Amino acid sequence: MIGEQLTEIYQLLFERFGPQHWWPGDTQFEIITGAILTQNTSWANVEKAIANLKSADLLSPEKLYHIDVSQLAELIRPAGYYNIKAKRLKNFTNWLFENYDGKLSNLQGLDTEQLRTELLSVKGIGRETADSILLYALDRPVFVVDAYTARVAFRHELIEPDADYEQLRDLFQSNLPQSTGCLTADTKLFNEYHALLVKVGKEFCRPKARCHGCPLAPLDSNKRE
Ligand code: SF4
Repeated sequence: MIGEQLTEIYQLLFERFGPQHWWPGDTQFEIITGAILTQNTSWANVEKAIANLKSADLLSPEKLYHIDVSQLAELIRPAGYYNIKAKRLKNFTNWLFENYDGKLSNLQGLDTEQLRTELLSVKGIGRETADSILLYALDRPVFVVDAYTARVAFRHELIEPDADYEQLRDLFQSNLPQSTGCLTADTKLFNEYHALLVKVGKEFCRPKARCHGCPLAPLDSNKRE
């Protein structure tokens, strides 16, 4: 039942908006950097920070591992909270070098839950960032949850208002049709689904809902305000 509702939501969003081509980035490390920088700022600001790192030829785990944190902070200044975010980027690269020889390829053999636990142990990497890294950079079938996900799920009576991150994540991960057993298909679906929820959240499901014209308006029989 819930699986069918979630599938219908996906279909309606995809029919209206089409593929979202997430996550922008030329390399795995660029996606990871974007996932860390995007907290509490707009994507346009993240792009400026990433452009600075690219111009300085610093967008690699090894180069960020060796760079001085204050120099890094200056380069990522457009992303806001740049001192904190510079430390977070350093924390990530330190973790990668101390445990995996600085190579993202060495993460490949790890079980997804183990990898998630390890990412969450890196200071400054929270659930949404860890799951974004897992899904968009490392191709793991995990569902990324954010405020848009919570808002749409609550308004369509799929969750209770006090549902936490893990409950929301479980709602999608456990109920979407993963029965194909095809991890690539699951990853693709989760990738597109999260991006579509962000799209509908930005355009229609705002703090004050704009249901008129929303692709999910046909589902309004169970809608909370
Ligand atoms: S704007 Fe209205 S119809 Fe659209 S997702 Fe939000 S509650 Fe549903």
